[in-house]
Amino acid sequence: MQIIDGKALAAKIKQEIKEEVAVLKRNHQVVPHLAAVLVGNDPASQSYVKSKVRSCELVGFESTLIRKDDSITEQELLEIIEDLNENDDVDGFIVQLPLPKHIDEQKVTLTIKPEKDVDGFHPVNFGKMTQGIDAFLPATPMGILEMLKRYEIKTEGKHCVVLGRSNIVGTPMSILLSRKAYPGNATVTITHSRTKDLSAVLRSADIIIAAIGIPEFVTGDMVKEDCVVIDVGINRVEDSTRLKGYRLVGDVDFESVSSRCSYITPVPGGVGPMTVTALLMNTLKSAKSKMSA
Ligand code: NDP
Repeated sequence: MQIIDGKALAAKIKQEIKEEVAVLKRNHQVVPHLAAVLVGNDPASQSYVKSKVRSCELVGFESTLIRKDDSITEQELLEIIEDLNENDDVDGFIVQLPLPKHIDEQKVTLTIKPEKDVDGFHPVNFGKMTQGIDAFLPATPMGILEMLKRYEIKTEGKHCVVLGRSNIVGTPMSILLSRKAYPGNATVTITHSRTKDLSAVLRSADIIIAAIGIPEFVTGDMVKEDCVVIDVGINRVEDSTRLKGYRLVGDVDFESVSSRCSYITPVPGGVGPMTVTALLMNTLKSAKSKMSA
């Protein structure tokens, strides 16, 4: 069994981005700029955004963090997005989800200009992705594709089971793995809470992408020998032995699954760092596309 070290791979790719940014700066006076909007005090969201800002600094991007209180109105948030849409200094931006209940997330996503939608959530980018047209891919599935590519994991003709059908992970992942490309050309089954006999479906998988948000849901008896397991889940479980009072676990029971599979991503240190890296890759792409426009 080999661990897919997302943390180390992310560090390597960030170094490559940093070198490219240095060249852009030197030869074209271009510095990619990512902005992030954070609403409220959700601890997980705060930590994700912090990691995104830190990563920007590391690769030499400019970054802007716009923090707003939970009490912000939908209209005020939409105005901030409009400003970012029009701000030529900003190459791309994200609005960290989830948002407070009184704000319509769909409306927010639709207001972001597709050319600056480096999270790849806007239907224009999503639609382009489904048709194989160049677009910003959603960051988490894009990070997973990059992992599969860099670890030279074969996907062609493989049976890939995606666990979860969210718009940000499961659904785009299933589309990307079934497209005519590498990584791709897989036979994909997408599963969800209404799927019958999920264990049997999982046991037929050569590649499993688990994204359901249930701690350690996938256990060793549900997977085939030598399968590849990508664990997207990030779940906090109580742990009084830890200083913070919790630890992070994935949607996969690492102990029982890792002894059966050929490759597995750990949590933390697997998909998470690659998601942030994909966001940087999209921002760099946006900055470069503006240069050639
Ligand atoms: P959502 O809550 O949006 O979607 C969960 C999906 O899991 C739904 O499709 C749901 O089915 C399905 N599901 C729930 N229970 C079951 C079950 N018992 N059996 C089968 N399917 C089930 O989750 P996200 O996609 O946003 O996130 C999933 C996980 O990934 C979370 O832990 C999240 O924190 C993590 N995540 C990690 C990222 C990273 O960078 N590593 C990025 C984004 C998310 P149905 O549609 O029928 O309700």
